[in-house]
Amino acid sequence: MEYANNILETIGNTPLVKLNRLTSELPCLVLAKYETFNPGNSVKDRMALQMVEDAEASGLLKAGGTIIEGTSGNTGMGLALAAVVKGYRMICVISDKQSKEKIDILKAVGSEVHVCPTDVAPDDPRSYYSTARRLATEIPNSWYVNQYDNPSNTKAHFLSTGPEIWKQTDGKVTHFVVGVGTGGTISGVGGYLKEQNPNVKVWGVDTYGSVFKKYHETGIFDENEIYPYVTEGIGEDILPENVNFELIDGFTKVTDKDAAVYTQRLAKEEGMFLGNSAGAAIKGLLQLKEHFSKDDVVVVLFHDHGSRYVGKMFNDDWMRDKGYIE
Ligand code: PMP
Repeated sequence: MEYANNILETIGNTPLVKLNRLTSELPCLVLAKYETFNPGNSVKDRMALQMVEDAEASGLLKAGGTIIEGTSGNTGMGLALAAVVKGYRMICVISDKQSKEKIDILKAVGSEVHVCPTDVAPDDPRSYYSTARRLATEIPNSWYVNQYDNPSNTKAHFLSTGPEIWKQTDGKVTHFVVGVGTGGTISGVGGYLKEQNPNVKVWGVDTYGSVFKKYHETGIFDENEIYPYVTEGIGEDILPENVNFELIDGFTKVTDKDAAVYTQRLAKEEGMFLGNSAGAAIKGLLQLKEHFSKDDVVVVLFHDHGSRYVGKMFNDDWMRDKGYIE
């Protein structure tokens, strides 16, 4: 018999899938690391499990404990799966711009959910960063995960996602392109790939309304770069410790409209029913066209599944209301 002992053992070892139509104008091979095959339907299962197991090992998370995290949904899902299997209480603190589906899904896997306003500064007591921190001081035997600054986030991708991509491309990967939020994915995968071959180029995809690109180019944390945006999962108004700017070769910014339109196009033209950051990632990759040549092997990572966006990017009324389609 061949089986996993619990759902957590099925995390990782996701397929690498060639893109055909959307990338036809590019001279190179483009492969997608297809992370929706994880049990929580996103790449974040990997880092969630790593963070929980490292916290158990270091004694931060004890039997009967409560896991608390500020999460846009996918990390919460991964943490919730780990909490169910390992027997912890799970509280997710989420911002009100996230889709209702994401909140309902978290509740479905046993998580408690606190919803906080999006348009307040990170240090405002109402922000989801502040609320998560406050709950962690109020609830006994609780552990605040802090995926932004928790080194186990990057470590998960250094130990699993990066090595998988290296092996699946037979060491031929030349470029890695990925959306950046906490930075765990880009820093872990990018760090591993550059350790194998320092010539691998690592590109981050950023949003308009986020600080990353300007900071990378100038070293200036420019508050004028910060304003509300629609794209989910990527871009930040803070500099998470998990973003290792030194190993990133550059950022490209994708508009909310393009991210939404390309999320639809991935589904309709490649049969890839994916989340909004996948649309941003593939559009960002297309914007980098002049950096790629014939023998290159470009890997793009797609973080999460389309089912979480059926009320938004996959709803034409919503798309029309936003002015993204005619
Ligand atoms: N896309 C989605 C849908 C996500 O949930 C996240 C995590 N915030 C990202 C991209 C960015 O990944 P990372 O946090 O590893 O930079």
